[in-house]
Amino acid sequence: MKVLEHHFPFLPERLIRLGDLAYNLWFSWHSKAVDLFKEMDQPLWERTGRNPVRMLHEVDAGRIEELAGEKAYVRKYDAVIRAMDHYLTDKKTWFNIRHEAFPGPVAYFSMEFGVHESLPIYSGGLGILAGDHLKSASDLGIPLVGVGLLYRESYFTQQISLSGHQQSHYVYNNFSNLPVRAVMGKNGDQLTIHVVTDGKQIAAKLWQAQIGRVPLYLLDTDLPENSNGDRKITERLYVGDRDMRLLQEILLGIGGVRALDAIGIAPSVWHMNEGHCSFLIVERIRRLVESGMPFDQAVEEIRKTTVFTTHTPIPAGNEMFETARIESAFRPCWEKLGIDRDRFMRLGQSRKDPDPHAFNMTILALYHSREANAVSRLHGTVSRHMWQHVFPDRSAEEVPIRAITNGVHTRTWMAGPMKDLLDRYLGPDWRHQITETAIWEKVGRIPDKVLWETHQTLKKALLEEVRCRLVRERDRNGESGDALREAEAILNPEFLTLGFARRFAQYKRGAMLFRDRERLKHLLTGSDRPVQILFAGKAHPADQPGKALIREIYQESRNPEFQNRIVFVENYDITLARHLVSGVDVWLNTPRRPLEASGTSGMKVAANGGINLSVLDGWWREAYQEDNGWAIGEDRDYYNEWEQDETDSQSLYNLLEHAVIPLYYTRNGEGIPEGWVKRMKASMTAVIPVFNTHRMLMEYVESMYLPKPSGK
Ligand SMILES: *Cc1c(COP(=O)(O)O)cnc(C)c1O
Repeated sequence: MKVLEHHFPFLPERLIRLGDLAYNLWFSWHSKAVDLFKEMDQPLWERTGRNPVRMLHEVDAGRIEELAGEKAYVRKYDAVIRAMDHYLTDKKTWFNIRHEAFPGPVAYFSMEFGVHESLPIYSGGLGILAGDHLKSASDLGIPLVGVGLLYRESYFTQQISLSGHQQSHYVYNNFSNLPVRAVMGKNGDQLTIHVVTDGKQIAAKLWQAQIGRVPLYLLDTDLPENSNGDRKITERLYVGDRDMRLLQEILLGIGGVRALDAIGIAPSVWHMNEGHCSFLIVERIRRLVESGMPFDQAVEEIRKTTVFTTHTPIPAGNEMFETARIESAFRPCWEKLGIDRDRFMRLGQSRKDPDPHAFNMTILALYHSREANAVSRLHGTVSRHMWQHVFPDRSAEEVPIRAITNGVHTRTWMAGPMKDLLDRYLGPDWRHQITETAIWEKVGRIPDKVLWETHQTLKKALLEEVRCRLVRERDRNGESGDALREAEAILNPEFLTLGFARRFAQYKRGAMLFRDRERLKHLLTGSDRPVQILFAGKAHPADQPGKALIREIYQESRNPEFQNRIVFVENYDITLARHLVSGVDVWLNTPRRPLEASGTSGMKVAANGGINLSVLDGWWREAYQEDNGWAIGEDRDYYNEWEQDETDSQSLYNLLEHAVIPLYYTRNGEGIPEGWVKRMKASMTAVIPVFNTHRMLMEYVESMYLPKPSGK
């Protein structure tokens, strides 16, 4: 399939391949490739949102000419281009060596993809996981294509007002400045597909982003032939309007199948990342029925090649639509399927106690998947109980949902200086042995002083970034000169630094530290062992309690009692996440067990030598050992939420007072916290080789993607 060639008219011949580099998000996990863009013009790099395509459109032509004549730059350029070419053509990948006989690609569908900040089509954890999934698939040589939507506006930018109010701004994306290219049809126009719903036809054109070897196809309805309403289907991610949400999911599921067909891709496995894309099942059944297969047989047939990942341990968090709404959208469809309304609705309804008014996207997915999985072991147990009613003839233990624990793409989330350090002490091959426990044992060989200094360098960079952001925010909010000067001097790299950054949903319990304010105040300011805490995170614009929580924390952060030891950093996104996870000493995570399906940010922290202080939920319950971090609360079900909050918060205060703070401030003659560094090393050794997307993809291939000889 052809994509429209890019055009950067003033790139000199000597640096012409920068164009290819800008359009392959491979650059995003290769620090040396990022440096090529950064060195062109660092302020512009930041101003463009670290977007190489926009960078090449806007950078001064004279500057590029100049770089083409700089020996050092050209040498780095050659090395990066050689590495990229080698990567893209290498045949000795993990997958090729083990699984040559795979019939066709995996189609991986997701409502959001968080690959890099230059492609802002993600909101949070689900999207980041999808982005990391594509990167590891590419690294391992797994034949896979992504399918999603290209949103006209980025998920919102968060600004905090002086009163702590979250304001959301939607930034308009100019697609010609994004790392995406038009997919071209045979007639020389951009390839366009159509879906029919509510008796009308909706057109969508196709774009392609390239993530290493893996293409990501994105649909976009902003076309003049669509009505104004339909042009807005791909305007925003996670709109509140239920009708619009249904149209988005019809476009993703049904349009996605048609897009792959139009491109000429015939997947051998269809992977649904969460239930938003489950309509792909309906479309694939329809195709088989229209080709002459009886309905029941078509259902069995598509089931053989469909797999599903569930992420949501709260029933209400699973996507549902009113049957009346489904009826008007799908009536012509069930006629084509040769079934009646009730049979159609039962595709998305529990067999045991069907809700006659709801069509559930997770149930649609569970019924029609050969394999399904949850995203951590505890989440697996919770999911099997939660969905037992969908499989009434099975006990909860027999419900066919396995567990594949999430991971992160290590090379994306590990900071450059940490990678350099590993090169020195582990040898550069660690990159290709991410899942080998033995190589990570060598972290023990890094001298304490060296590891500590690298960490402190990263921490200083984080605090500097936070100061800059804070000054900008206060300036924007019209604060006084004193307040601006205060922001310039805030935070101290010698202080124990905690980070808490995530979506402000209730179950994450972002305000747990404030449960006993006096005790917190004493912890932060009451001794010669000070503690500072960085908070960041967005609340969905419709989530009033989430926004109230942000307001509370922001107001506390400005309360003089806390002496600037609490800072709320606005606009948590990939850029800020990268800084936070690489610079904090401790990552605090306080979900209401067992509602954090997996969580991944603590894994990013461990990849950089940070230490987790977390509730035993999701991934941490599997990773925690006594020497590699701290566990808040107990590994059990609580009687009620009050007991849980009380137990967990007491445990958190006690751990900070008696374990975390003393360990950090116990220094040897050289000022190195030896016990702390030992724990940093244990954290890296235990977490990195297991909680990464390479291990995760290997599990997906072996237990979900490869055909089973006997079926399930
Ligand atoms: C990693 C990441 C997440 C996921 O965070 P968890 O709360 O650990 O699931 C969300 N948002 C951003 C920007 C991230 O980088």
